[in-house]
This record gives sequence, C-alpha cells and structure tokens, in this order.
Amino acid sequence: MELAGYRIDLQRIIDIIKDRHVKSVAVQMPEGLRRQAQTLVEALEKKTGATVMLCADPCYGACDLASDRLRGLGIDLVVHIGHTEIPTIKSTIPTVYVNAVSLRDPTAAVAQAVPKLVGSRIGVVTTAQHLEELTKVQDVLRKHHLTPVIGKGGPRIASHGQILGCDFSAGIDIQDQVDSFLFVGSGMFHPVGLALATHKPVIAADPYTGKVTREEIETEKDALLRQRYAAIAIAQTATRFGIIVGLKAGQQRLAEAQRLRLLLTEKGKASVLLLLDQCSPMVLQGFAELECFVSTACPRIAIDDRALYSRPVLTPVELEVVLGVRSWDEYVFDQITS
Ligand code: SF4
Repeated sequence: MELAGYRIDLQRIIDIIKDRHVKSVAVQMPEGLRRQAQTLVEALEKKTGATVMLCADPCYGACDLASDRLRGLGIDLVVHIGHTEIPTIKSTIPTVYVNAVSLRDPTAAVAQAVPKLVGSRIGVVTTAQHLEELTKVQDVLRKHHLTPVIGKGGPRIASHGQILGCDFSAGIDIQDQVDSFLFVGSGMFHPVGLALATHKPVIAADPYTGKVTREEIETEKDALLRQRYAAIAIAQTATRFGIIVGLKAGQQRLAEAQRLRLLLTEKGKASVLLLLDQCSPMVLQGFAELECFVSTACPRIAIDDRALYSRPVLTPVELEVVLGVRSWDEYVFDQITS
C-alpha cells in the first residue's frame, strides 16, 4: 500500500493479525502518514475482521511506544508504522514495526553528491525510510571509484548504516576508517548531528529534492553552536534547575538525570526532577521558579525547538559545560545510547 509517497507492507500486517488470531489492534504512525490513516484502518478491518484503532497522540519515533498507555483496553497487538524497532526497548503489548519505505530513488542525488565528497573512503548513513536503497547507494559510489563503508551502530540501531536523531553510532563506529560521510535523507538535523558527533565532513543527498548540501550543513552547525553557546552563557547564572526525565519508553534516562542532579547539588545549585511524557513550552511555562531546564529526554527537544522556549533548555553535555566539568572544546551532541 502506498501512503504519502511511502510503501507500507500492508500484507505483512494482515498476515500477522490473522496468524496470531488478533481481535483488537492499535496502530501508531507519525503525522506525515496520517492523511490516509482511515483508508489503512478500513483495509485492515476488512481483510482481518479485527477491530483496528488509531493512536492519535503525536508519534515522533520508535522510542515512543503506545503500549504502556494502552493497558486496560484489551489491545492484543500494536502496529507501529513508520519507524524501525529500537531493539533495547521492550514493549508491554506485542508490537510489530512496519517501516515506511521511501519510493524516491536516491541514486541521482547520490551521483550529484559525488564531486562534493571528500577523500575516497565514504561512510554512508541514512534514516529508516531509505535503508532499502543502501545497496544502490553503494553501487553508485563504487562506480565512481569510491569505497563505501557502512557502520553497524550501537544496541539501539536496528539496521547497519541507520542513524537516529538521538543515536549516531553507525557513523561514530567508522569515523576513523572514512574520509567523509554521505548522508542520504532529508532535513538538517541528522547531518548536522553527525558532523558534530564525528567532526568529519558530511555531505547530504536528499532523494526528495535531489539537492546536495555541504556548505549549508557547516553553516547550520556553526549557527547551532553559537546558539548553544548563548544558552550555556545564560544558564551560568541560574540557581534553580528542572531536570526533565522523559516518560516515553525509549527516552527514559533516570540514572543520567540523577547524575546531573548530584552534579548540581555539588555546585550548590537547587534542582527538581520533572517527569514528562510530552515536553512543550506550555508544559514548562508553569514552573516559574525554575530558571533553566535540562532535558535527558529526546535530544531534539533542546535543539529543534530552541526558539520556542523562553528559558534555556540544555542537554546533559551542556549542563556539564555550565558547571565547569567539561570544556566547551569538548562539546558533543547529546545521544541516548541504551
Ligand atoms: S528519542 Fe528523539 S531522536 Fe530518538 S528516536 Fe525518539 S524521537 Fe527520534
């Protein structure tokens, strides 16, 4: 089935529902795929006879499993569409992951990127939607006498060469073996994160627009670093901190939050742990006594939405810089590693 330019393996979902004699199904999908959500539900109900319900809360990644919130509803199966599994996360209700595979062929964009690549050994990384095209991407590079290198990644990574906004391990693993990286995908967050995580040149080839970027990634990286430096500077005078602990299954870092709290206490600063499912400016606004927040939840909260918050929201690494236990020269992107 095609949904918003992506291929969804509907037959696999139908087969699983039938094989397991499932009666009640909950479907999770990211907002970009929801336009035809009703069509998908109707098709599943018609072909399986099961009751299929849609989880309407936002879903940004495989870190966000609905299963905990669905307990008590008699749901037999969660179908999580649009993300690949994060293997370290255990679901309380049986969950199947169904990737949304991009229908865009990346080869033209990759061929365009070749002149911008640095050196001959190229680390190749991508997001879930383009994983199936990695072989084609490597073929293009080989045709231009380049050597593609694909990293395995850490325990949160389901497929070789895949990166998440919170996990660049598939790039970090191979950074010493490559001259530069080719990112296949859209948006700036992943290539900028990879550039910050590896300190190697990153060139992005966007299969949707055909655009190749290199200088823009450097510009965005510099702008981000300036903004993060400013946030750190503002936080230097803060005395009361809120440490955010994400409640989503794949964002929970309580031990990290407690480590940060101890650091703050040692430096004479007050802090409180804030347990949050969904972080937003509106949610934080009410905590008027707190001068600064530190997010141990999704690293994108502090970076992507930075302009929306009236008080600094730091990553754990940035708090370490504020407290003088890490120098600015050792700045790295925050990542969730387990
Ligand atoms: S923690 Fe954030 S970056 Fe990581 S998978 Fe979840 S939504 Fe994506």
